[in-house]
Amino acid sequence: MKRAAKRKEPDQKRIAALVRELLVELGEDPEREGLKKTPERVAKAFAYLTRGYRQNVKAVVNGAYFTSGTNHMVILKNIELYSMCEHHMLPFYGTCAIGYISKGKVLGVSKLARIVDMYARRLQIQERLTEQIADAIMDEAEAEGVGVVVRAKHLCMMMRGVEKQNSEMVTSAVLGSFRSDEKVRGEFLSLVNG
Ligand code: ZN
Repeated sequence: MKRAAKRKEPDQKRIAALVRELLVELGEDPEREGLKKTPERVAKAFAYLTRGYRQNVKAVVNGAYFTSGTNHMVILKNIELYSMCEHHMLPFYGTCAIGYISKGKVLGVSKLARIVDMYARRLQIQERLTEQIADAIMDEAEAEGVGVVVRAKHLCMMMRGVEKQNSEMVTSAVLGSFRSDEKVRGEFLSLVNG
C-alpha cells in the first residue's frame, strides 16, 4: 500500500458539497429543515472517523514506555473498536484483544488502545486492521512476540446483503514467538478466550 507522508486535513466544504449532491441523488430535499445542516455534520463526522490517516504510531505512543526486567506476557482484552469497512463505508465494531511479550520495553495500557484507535479510524478491512495493530506493537514494544484477536460485527452484513444479524467475524494475527511457539500461542488464546 502506498502511503502519503503526511495526509492533509480533508476539505470539509468540499465533502459537504458532495454529501449534498448525494442527498439529491437519493431523492431527498437537502433544503428541508432536518437535512439543512446534514452535509456539514457528515463532513465533520467523516473527518473524525478517518483521523487515523493523519496520525502515526510514533506520535501516538510518544515515548510512553516503562522498562521491565521480566519478560512475561501482557494481555489487554475488550478494547472497544469502531471502524468503517472500505467496501461499503459502513461501520464495523467490536473488541480487540492484544497480547505481547516484551524484551523489556512495556507500552502503557492507554497507548495500546490508542494504537487500535489509530488504525480503526481509517477505511479498513478487518484482516488488515488486525495485522497493522500487531505489526505496530511488535515494532514499538520491540516485542519478541505479539498476538491480536479482533471480533467485530459488520453493519454491511447486518443491514444489507445477507442480513446475518448475529454473525461476528473473528480475525487474528500472531507474530514472533506467538507464531513459532505453540505453548506461547496456547497461553495467549486461553487468556483471551477465558
Ligand atoms: Zn462492507
